[in-house]
Amino acid sequence: MPLLRSLRNLGKRPIHQDWPGLIEAYRAWLPVSSSTPVISLREGGTPLIPAPSIAAQIGRGVRVFLKYDGLNPTGSFKDRGMTMAISKAKEAGSEAVICASTGNTSAAAAAYARRGGMRAFVLIPDGYVAQGKLAQALLYGAEVIAIKGNFDRALAIVQDVANQYPITLVNSVNPYRLQGQKTAAFEVVDALGDAPDWLCIPVGNAGNITAYWMGFGEYRQAGRSRKLPRMMGFQAAGSAPLVLGQTVEQPDTIATAIRIGNPVNKDNALRVEAESNGGFMAVTDSEIIAAYKLLGNHEGVFCEPASAASVAGLLKRKDEVPSNATVVCVLTGNGLKDPSTAIENNDARFHTGLDADTATVAKVMGF
Ligand SMILES: *Cc1c(COP(=O)(O)O)cnc(C)c1O
Repeated sequence: MPLLRSLRNLGKRPIHQDWPGLIEAYRAWLPVSSSTPVISLREGGTPLIPAPSIAAQIGRGVRVFLKYDGLNPTGSFKDRGMTMAISKAKEAGSEAVICASTGNTSAAAAAYARRGGMRAFVLIPDGYVAQGKLAQALLYGAEVIAIKGNFDRALAIVQDVANQYPITLVNSVNPYRLQGQKTAAFEVVDALGDAPDWLCIPVGNAGNITAYWMGFGEYRQAGRSRKLPRMMGFQAAGSAPLVLGQTVEQPDTIATAIRIGNPVNKDNALRVEAESNGGFMAVTDSEIIAAYKLLGNHEGVFCEPASAASVAGLLKRKDEVPSNATVVCVLTGNGLKDPSTAIENNDARFHTGLDADTATVAKVMGF
């Protein structure tokens, strides 16, 4: 039995090493102490997946990787920030949290708050939250308040409520969110052995781009990487305040997670752009959908439309990528969050209503 023998020869070290969650993994880099109650669903530790089809569209020896943060416990990178925000809220004795959300923040807030034994209130723009995200908030036990107004309005209201009542705000104005989210940059450097040359990322409220830059900076400072990436941020054309240089009153895009007209972290975002010699650019909904389909069709990766903005942006700027560069595109959320966009936007052959016999099936297969 050679197979069994070779398995035994691997010795006692387990093949699968359990991931302890990002607070335990990066404890020394985070504002937690031994008395912080860690509320964790073992978030973080997400894969960096090579994207050869996208790299082939660029050529010139460029390597492209996808940081697939859709594999977090609630299906988006928001879990990285929420494990920190909720653990610190618990440490401070908070009994309830509130957030405004385009969907993913509410799903993450609900899951972590309930796990920590707290109430979770979420304000969402009525009719503009993808179905999977709403399902999550409800199932996790959030108290969902849908308002006739967009995200920017919802945020103003939750800020008022948190100022007036004893409740912790867990939007990305909460500094612990960015602390948790910066660990994604640590993971990228840990996986590649250095920072990438370009980091392509979708930008809504600009918390994530701010957090990545913080993470890359801290690792560089500590000598864990030799360089810093250019931070390439992409907004949807219908809601691109950072590209236009002004607030967008009526943001509109198929990418609901980045449908934001007045980014909370606007000043941080502009600082990151300047410090990293990066650049913001808008991508249209049709460019987003093309990248979304390409990721599914050719890379086997199902992300949500907002996430595909990073790849749409990379392809739009492909002639500027230096030869032999390493590029990481952040895929912020899981495609299963928004099934209706996938069903309405694909090039699949979908044969329906056929008779249940082999000959009919073989015929539509082309035999
Ligand atoms: C929240 C979110 C974004 C935008 O992140 P910001 O930190 O607001 O810039 C992008 N994609 C997805 C899937 C999100 O949930």
